[in-house]
Amino acid sequence: MAEESIFAKIIARQIPARIEHEDDRYIAIHDINPQAPLHLLVIPKRQIATLNDLEPADGELVGGMFLLAAQLMKRLGHTDYRTVFNCGRGAQQTVFHVHLHVLAGRPFTWPPG
Ligand code: AMP
Repeated sequence: MAEESIFAKIIARQIPARIEHEDDRYIAIHDINPQAPLHLLVIPKRQIATLNDLEPADGELVGGMFLLAAQLMKRLGHTDYRTVFNCGRGAQQTVFHVHLHVLAGRPFTWPPG
């Protein structure tokens, strides 16, 4: 089995985090190094390393990450926000447990850096 990610340790309450939401499938936490006034990470509790490791049967789990992101942004009063999956070291993925970045509270530019 893959080594436990830092997010698995947060889920297990072995290390602290500011938790915005938790249910049986996901946890959403505030990023420790926020890149916007609001920067959440939506994380499935099941540890999958990268988008490249997803199976077709995981489609609903990943879709649910976006549904949860939209629900949280609505609850927190944001209609405009950026969602990002980094996949692989070359795309700046640093935690190998898939997570959706959800950023809000400032203007965003395109293309991203
Ligand atoms: P990525 O670089 O796409 O893999 O994103 C990983 C994110 O996890 C980064 O934005 C980090 O700031 C964030 N992060 C790392 N450790 C923690 C932690 N203990 N609590 C909250 N966020 C974290």
